[in-house]
Amino acid sequence: MTHVVDPAETLAGYEVWFLTGSQGLYGEETLRQVEEQSRAVHAQLEGALPVKLVWKPVLKDADGIRRALIEASADDKVIGVTTWMHTFSPAKMWIGGLTALTKPLLHLHTQANVTLPWADIDFDFMNLNQAAHGDREFGYVLARLGVRHATAVGHVSDPRVQQRVQNWTRAAAAAASVRSLKLTRFGDNMRYVAVTEGDKTEAEIELGVQVNTWAVNELAEAVSSASEEDIDDLVAVYERDYDVDPSLRRDGGDRHAALRDGAAIELGLRSLLAQNGSAAFTTNFEDLGSLKQLPGLAVQRLMADGYGFGAEGDWKTAVLVRAMNVAGAGLSGGASLMEDYTYDLTPGAEKILGAHMLEVSPTLTTTKPTLEIHPLGIGGKDDPVRLVFTADAGEAVVVALSDTRDGFRLTANVVDVVPPTEALPKLPVGRAVWEPRPSFPVAAEAWLTAGAAHHTVMTTAVGLQVIEDFATLVGTEFLVIDEHTTARGFRDELRLQQTWHRLDRGF
Ligand code: MN
Repeated sequence: MTHVVDPAETLAGYEVWFLTGSQGLYGEETLRQVEEQSRAVHAQLEGALPVKLVWKPVLKDADGIRRALIEASADDKVIGVTTWMHTFSPAKMWIGGLTALTKPLLHLHTQANVTLPWADIDFDFMNLNQAAHGDREFGYVLARLGVRHATAVGHVSDPRVQQRVQNWTRAAAAAASVRSLKLTRFGDNMRYVAVTEGDKTEAEIELGVQVNTWAVNELAEAVSSASEEDIDDLVAVYERDYDVDPSLRRDGGDRHAALRDGAAIELGLRSLLAQNGSAAFTTNFEDLGSLKQLPGLAVQRLMADGYGFGAEGDWKTAVLVRAMNVAGAGLSGGASLMEDYTYDLTPGAEKILGAHMLEVSPTLTTTKPTLEIHPLGIGGKDDPVRLVFTADAGEAVVVALSDTRDGFRLTANVVDVVPPTEALPKLPVGRAVWEPRPSFPVAAEAWLTAGAAHHTVMTTAVGLQVIEDFATLVGTEFLVIDEHTTARGFRDELRLQQTWHRLDRGF
């Protein structure tokens, strides 16, 4: 497959297949009506989805079902299938197909009509419109086979149903993008750090992502071969898109050379990642080889273009940033590496100040970032250039992926990003201030109890349902901290998830 990073372009290359179940028993005239209504339902749904929804002929027997699901599984473009039993489709016919299916499934429980024609209803109508029990037969076999899936219930003209299917589609797209993801690590993990470690082989087995390492000096070589012309062009882009500090500008800035170094790093990163076919990467400030600066500006801009990124070798967070960039394509807001940094512990009004050394994506703001240069206490390199901004206020989710040795655990906290209590004139980094739900003490206790990481992806583009569907599709543990969470309930849920996943894994 070609190397596509742009999240909108990634979605444009994907399809979901719209499958309708019935059976031969009903005769030609009824099956003609089934097809007509199936096409009508498909037409109402397709415009609501961010990927192409492909209508497929009505499935009537076991061989046809098996072939359709094998074809969907074999086609790289297909990220999932929706299934609707328009009439009664005896579900033993679906066993062969469902056991061969390797793609995500959404059970669409709907019917052609919104209201019942009470005065005219006869038994012909009853026979034609029997998804109410046809889908129950199908639900049974999904449950019996243990097929991981999502369910959307209601008429397709209902915006809530359209949103439900859209959310699942976005999760399926994120899962597909991870399954084809090649992640480039420059160097290893930060020395002595535990939570950024993980089993890369297990990651490829469970999530599909290929995690491999490259010497940072290969990156340094790519950086040093950036041409002066390309650097000029990129600097012009910086001056167009950001408020560039006068000291960095082309016209007489005494530190302009540092901005050119930053641009060369961006060009080198882009060329090496393109060469590797990578849409995600990690760096480590302890291992920068002959790079002149810690990559800050470059990383911020690459995340904004849809790349996944994790600092200090944290490939698990890089996977999540990539996944959420794809899931949120075309929506307002964005996704970024985030780190719980420091607190305001004013009782009852606690806030978390999140940031990183440099690497926070400017997609978290709608304001124009400033491009600045400041010293960085660690790393022992030249002062790095970076974008400085504050994340927009609004709802967000922070999500962490940890390796439990039994598998992976996704922990998500719904938070409210708020304006900083006061200006932050001496903090020259991209940052976000938030209040976690349900409250700071409960959220932080739950997070610590789950062993969830200090690195997260913060997404302001998609909500909890997309993340939950993503967790279901990739098969990780999934723990939620939101307005319904209590400390006791969370501990119980954690035990349940651990137990279930250990059993589900088998021996
Ligand atoms: Mn960090």
